Amino acid sequence: MTAIQGESLPAPGSTERTVIQRLAEKTVEDRRVGYDILDAGFVAHVSVADEHGQPYVVPVGYARDGDEVLFHGSTASRLFRGLASGQPTCLTVTLLDGMVLARSTFESSMQYRGVMVLGPCRVLEGADKDRALEVITEHLLPGRWSEARHPSKKELAATLVLALSLHEMSVKVSAGPPEDEDDDISRPIWAGVVPLIETFGAPVSAPDLVEPFPVPDYVSRWRRPSPPYEPGQ
Ligand SMILES: Cc1cc2nc3c(=O)[nH]c(=O)nc-3n(C[C@H](O)[C@H](O)[C@H](O)COP(=O)(O)OP(=O)(O)OC[C@H]3O[C@@H](n4cnc5c(N)ncnc54)[C@H](O)[C@@H]3O)c2cc1C
Repeated sequence: MTAIQGESLPAPGSTERTVIQRLAEKTVEDRRVGYDILDAGFVAHVSVADEHGQPYVVPVGYARDGDEVLFHGSTASRLFRGLASGQPTCLTVTLLDGMVLARSTFESSMQYRGVMVLGPCRVLEGADKDRALEVITEHLLPGRWSEARHPSKKELAATLVLALSLHEMSVKVSAGPPEDEDDDISRPIWAGVVPLIETFGAPVSAPDLVEPFPVPDYVSRWRRPSPPYEPGQ
């Protein structure tokens, strides 16, 4: 995990635009909790509008690097070019921890940990771009950078690498049991939480391996770093 450099950044959910209004008790002001969520996730959703103002939400692989989120896309993508031009964006990462079965459908919900980040992106070039690609690769595929071929000049030219500051962010965590209305608790209906745990399956070798390689240790030992959040941690 990359260290937090900017301890002086505003607490999550403390700027005018990030104060959580709806179910405000789910606000987490501890920046480290937000960074742990980012470090446990693989996919971010990034908003961007096209030239007609039509909004899109684009899923991307990403990595946290200090107080920024890094992600990449094609230089040929009009949406990525929009982000590169400094268009304001909103990035979210959500980890789903469980399904909450209340006695009523109204109170039924999900356990989740979510981060929302606001701001414009900046384009990374040169050594910063090279380093960012390594950081993204190592977050998504730990141990892979030292083994896989690195991007060629042509591949680098086709890749836009963007950084989004974690300056303005919010963290919302929903944990705990169902919260039924008092009148519903006496109903003879099971209620509770079913945890949802994402995990890797057994590796499947590519059919075109040039020789029968054993699966590398860093692949067979790979585990998802996503401990469930306990309130009050
Ligand atoms: C897996 C999952 C399922 C959900 N399902 C529903 C659903 O079915 N219906 C529903 O109404 N809501 C659902 N939510 C909650 C939803 O994400 C919003 O928090 C909620 O709709 C309130 O939105 P708002 O814009 O009115 O919030 P406000 O509280 O007015 O938002 C103000 C600020 O709070 C912050 N914020 C809001 N939501 C989040 C968030 N999720 N994570 C981090 N920061 C946040 C942002 O900075 C935002 O600008 C779900 C969330 C998750 C993670």
